[in-house]
Amino acid sequence: MPLAPKILVADDDQALSRTLSWILKENGYDVVAIPGGEHLFEHLASDQFDLLLLDIMMPKVDGLQLLHRVKTDPKYQDLPVLMISSMPPEEATVRSLGLGASDFIAKPFRVRELLARVKAHLRVGRELNQARTEARSRSEMVEILNEVASSLKPDEIFQVLVRRVAQGLRISRCSIILAEPGAVEGTVVAAYENPTLRNLRIDLRRYPEVRHALDSGELVLAQDVATDPLYQTIRSEWQSEGRAIPCRSAIAMRFSLRDEPAGVFFLRTTDDDLPLNQQDVQFADQVISAAVRSLERAYELEHAMSDQEQLKHLASTDPLTGTLNRRALAEKLEQEMDRAARYASLLTCMMIDIDNFKQINDTHGHLVGDQILRQIAALLKREQRSPDAVARYGGEEFVVLLPETTLVESRSFAERVLRRVAEHDFGESGRPVRVTISIGLASYPDERVTDGESLLRLADTHLYRAKTEGRNRFRD
Ligand code: GH3
Ligand code: MG
Ligand code: MG
Repeated sequence: MPLAPKILVADDDQALSRTLSWILKENGYDVVAIPGGEHLFEHLASDQFDLLLLDIMMPKVDGLQLLHRVKTDPKYQDLPVLMISSMPPEEATVRSLGLGASDFIAKPFRVRELLARVKAHLRVGRELNQARTEARSRSEMVEILNEVASSLKPDEIFQVLVRRVAQGLRISRCSIILAEPGAVEGTVVAAYENPTLRNLRIDLRRYPEVRHALDSGELVLAQDVATDPLYQTIRSEWQSEGRAIPCRSAIAMRFSLRDEPAGVFFLRTTDDDLPLNQQDVQFADQVISAAVRSLERAYELEHAMSDQEQLKHLASTDPLTGTLNRRALAEKLEQEMDRAARYASLLTCMMIDIDNFKQINDTHGHLVGDQILRQIAALLKREQRSPDAVARYGGEEFVVLLPETTLVESRSFAERVLRRVAEHDFGESGRPVRVTISIGLASYPDERVTDGESLLRLADTHLYRAKTEGRNRFRD
């Protein structure tokens, strides 16, 4: 059975205090009544209360001042406070709600109305407290960090962080912005309110809290965006643009990766959420600082992988044409020969040499010559089933490997390539250059072929024949 909600009643009017206590107890609440407000904080500290009923007009202390102290104390920010007074309702309501009271009840009050309000605020307070307690509990934190640690990509981690923190704190907006101190632009890499958003550039001049956190490294907790001096300039911009104030409270905290400021963790509430407080700051701070290590690792991994892949790519690619280079071709050729031998399948090697290329260079210039080499490579990649089996073998020589291709099939492939090249307008647009090629074909199995090298040699012999017998043809 859950414990009865505990209500603290602080009112100097003894008769009223007794009546209130009696009604609340009759309705199942646990009530502590104190005369006046002098010892309010001692009582609040001595027990865990779910609701405070506070009189505004008390002889020794001002109820509104007490309210202000309660609401600015991080320990009690989530405690719902109902103000009771015989002050003119209008004035009292405005002032107490402005100070963070949950509600206002005018004396004399109707019992049913009082009970309804108490119940409503208890529920809101309880739910919120429960959610926040859960969110901050160790197991929740461990869960979040496990989820973060199992993500290998920085992007995934950012998504997890904004989702878990927003859900844990029951706030509607939570995002991560990457930016350097002093920058006027940042990149939103994740936003709970917009889960599909990735890498949105934003103008940081519109986010004074983000900029302040980023530039100073100080934590920004703006409980009331409508009055906080940090927003003074932007507020007048919002006003002149006819925009409503976009959020109620905000937290901006800078985080670092490898000891360098990397960005800002940005939490905001709207009018539907409760304002952010010091405990939310602690929670967000714990989450982000614990996630930093996973983030650093993810970045390192990503970096290492891309470095490795980049090196591999560089080491195996011909820079002019983007095809495999000679070294990578040798590797590929060994692989394909192994495969063909093991599975008793076929492999055809096609060696291509551009006809009279020296003359083409002489006529059109070396740059156009280079362009033609790139264009031939692109054409071969387009025609070939596996583009990774096209290689630049030498200056104006290419090799195409055709795995599992019979001699008949490779002949028709050679015919097609010869035709495509001969019909193509090479060079710059408007100044077409006609080019032909010669092709030597060699296939495995063949008694002359024992390895990759002898396959290439045979193709080269056939290419030589194609040249001597007139060019723009293939031989096998
Ligand atoms: P053939 O029909 O007998 O093959 O005649 P060819 O002129 O193509 O033969 P040759 O081997 O005598 O000349 C090849 C030319 O290719 C020489 C060289 O200037 C040119 N070449 C080699 N590599 C490059 C390159 O990277 N860019 C350019 N533009 N030309 C190149
Ligand atoms: Mg040549
Ligand atoms: Mg040539």
